[in-house]
Amino acid sequence: AFDVLVVGGGPGGAAAAVYAARKGIRTGLVAERFGGQVLDTLAIENFISVPYTEGPKLAMALEEHVKRYDVDVMNLQTAQGLTPAGDDGLITVTLANGAALRSRTVVLATGARWRSMNVPGEQEYRGRGVAYCPHCDGPLFKGKRVAVIGGGNSGVEAAIDLAGIVTQVTLIEFDGQLRADEVLQRKLRSLSNVRVIVSAQTTEVHGAQGKVSGLSYRDRGSDQIHRLELEGVFVQIGLLPNTDWLKGTLALSERGEIEIDARGQTSLPGVFAAGDATTTPYKQIVIAMGEGSKAALSAFDHLIRTSAP
Ligand code: FAD
Repeated sequence: AFDVLVVGGGPGGAAAAVYAARKGIRTGLVAERFGGQVLDTLAIENFISVPYTEGPKLAMALEEHVKRYDVDVMNLQTAQGLTPAGDDGLITVTLANGAALRSRTVVLATGARWRSMNVPGEQEYRGRGVAYCPHCDGPLFKGKRVAVIGGGNSGVEAAIDLAGIVTQVTLIEFDGQLRADEVLQRKLRSLSNVRVIVSAQTTEVHGAQGKVSGLSYRDRGSDQIHRLELEGVFVQIGLLPNTDWLKGTLALSERGEIEIDARGQTSLPGVFAAGDATTTPYKQIVIAMGEGSKAALSAFDHLIRTSAP
């Protein structure tokens, strides 16, 4: 059995594995895809102390760092069930391949994925004008025109944030009205370079010379198609935590995020969680790493308090 079993191989899981292994305890790491979302990222400019890096390079560095330690890395494996500890004090994580891994503590860091619009051009221009994270990519659009898709809290927050950087923001909402909190909507309306279009369904992202050049939407009232010329599209229609396999096992928020306290403790004893899969606000690499480290230290603390003398 492991002392700490980490589920997830993104920044959160990698940090947890390094911190656990450095305590000299038996550490395992299961990941569907080592590197996580970082693998899908081009430029990274907010990984503090590294002014510029690229996703695949950072993913490789994460793996190298983990492999410096005695961590049993099980890559390309999917966890599909978790059973709380019984009398023997061991938690069981079952994998899609049928294996059952046992551990005294578990750190869940299964991350999340952005919901996409599924319209022509979105995948093609991902990272070349189509973006999902204003904190990450906002500055790349300085002096340009962008659209934000989605009028919930995250879409309106993104539009307010981007309005301070870009020349023009067009917020596009499918419904007849925005769904964001009134205080955010009021702030949005006070900005002179933001335009809001409601009852609009994005139908296509256009590109030229390998970059985004515009966007088409259908006016759901008149059924007419309109085209906007712009350089960037921020999709803000939801972040989906990879926690379906945990439903009914531990406490999840309304959005399916794993509920944790300030130490990364979940509702199950001995089970900790970190990163984008959790209720921790702001989904970022440095945050996932900090939270992963914290969860591993909490797991270690749990071990020294529960082990037989
Ligand atoms: P993830 O990186 O999502 O990793 C989750 C891990 O869990 C993966 O290894 C996955 O395969 C694994 N997993 C999931 N389910 C299972 C399962 N059932 N069994 C086993 N393994 C499982 N952040 C920044 O700070 N700066 C940026 O510039 C930046 N740019 C981004 C650009 C893009 C396009 C995207 C998508 C995200 C970007 N982010 C950026 C956000 C950042 O990537 C995430 O906040 C960070 O990767 C979260 O780390 P994590 O470890 O919590 O989860």
